Amino acid sequence: MKTQLALPVTKVQNSRIPETDFSNLVFGRTISDHMFVADYKDGEWTDLRIEPYGPLSINPANATLHYGQSIFEGMKAYRNEDGKILVFRADANWRRLNESAERMCMPELPEEVFMEGLTQLIDLDRDWVPTAKGASLYVRPYMFAMDDYIGVRPSDTYKFIILTCPVGNYYSKPVSVKVETTFTRATEGGTGAAKTAGNYAASLYPARQAQKAGYDQLLWTDGRSHSKIEESGTMNVMFKINGKLITAPTNTGTILKGITRDSVIQLAKDWNEPLEERFLTVGELESALIDGTLEEAFGTGTAATIAHVERINVNGKDYILPSKSADAFSHRVLAELDGIKYGQVADPHNWIISI
Ligand SMILES: *Cc1c(COP(=O)(O)O)cnc(C)c1O
Repeated sequence: MKTQLALPVTKVQNSRIPETDFSNLVFGRTISDHMFVADYKDGEWTDLRIEPYGPLSINPANATLHYGQSIFEGMKAYRNEDGKILVFRADANWRRLNESAERMCMPELPEEVFMEGLTQLIDLDRDWVPTAKGASLYVRPYMFAMDDYIGVRPSDTYKFIILTCPVGNYYSKPVSVKVETTFTRATEGGTGAAKTAGNYAASLYPARQAQKAGYDQLLWTDGRSHSKIEESGTMNVMFKINGKLITAPTNTGTILKGITRDSVIQLAKDWNEPLEERFLTVGELESALIDGTLEEAFGTGTAATIAHVERINVNGKDYILPSKSADAFSHRVLAELDGIKYGQVADPHNWIISI
């Protein structure tokens, strides 16, 4: 690594590690001892520091609370057999944070601030990275408006924070999904491609309706015609039909550019697997389910990496997917990505940094 920013560090008096049950981690509930914080004022990021994780003081007029000018990222760090901490594609998360920032009228965060904050925080809290097989440290960088002002305009001040949470083996049991044709996650010209808070708030109600009906997640369709499959709201989705992988393109501004999606596409190219970036229509999906040409369907995202789909509801009808053989693409690509993330196989695309 090049020049190191000298970050002031305030350490906790007593680590919470002794009282943490690492064999029983619930995703997102346990936060590590420290956090990285930077403040944006007068047009620059200042006061970069690492301090104990703890409450913030927020004025009730804080603009984020009213108008949701807030963006986030999600990534993971893994412990390899030599005790090194490996971080997967952090540069891609930094780039995407700044794409979200631009759409939400928020300031750009320099790469150095992101990477130094990230690596120094993870280094300080490296004992929080779980050792169990399949476990990891989830990393949550986020930025939000800090002006105390009740009026709709971009804030002049912001906070950028990085938190980390140890998470257990995310045994992704196969999911059942419902193709959503009433509610909309994103439309062209909207904010679907930004990882911004409001997108997730807006998805809660339709997702809860689907959960009440017995589905884990939604498959969102385009907001205009509800005839094209877009993504799943925290995961991108891929289908394998007649030997060919199909996933929605990301140039409409309605789909989050998943880093897992991009990694899977890269591996598919490396392996000469036929892959099309195009919209699958709801009609095509239904036909492929009926005539049995749908071989695989899976979500791609940081939390699960690959989530196999076992049941799909289309136009009110449930279809069960065939069980997958061990050499299914989704199994192979999951094994390869896990191998890269834990440093067990070669990393030809330089996706890993080591701390
Ligand atoms: C974060 C996210 C994904 C997955 O992105 P990864 O970088 O692979 O974790 C997909 N869709 C939405 C809406 C997301 O917020």
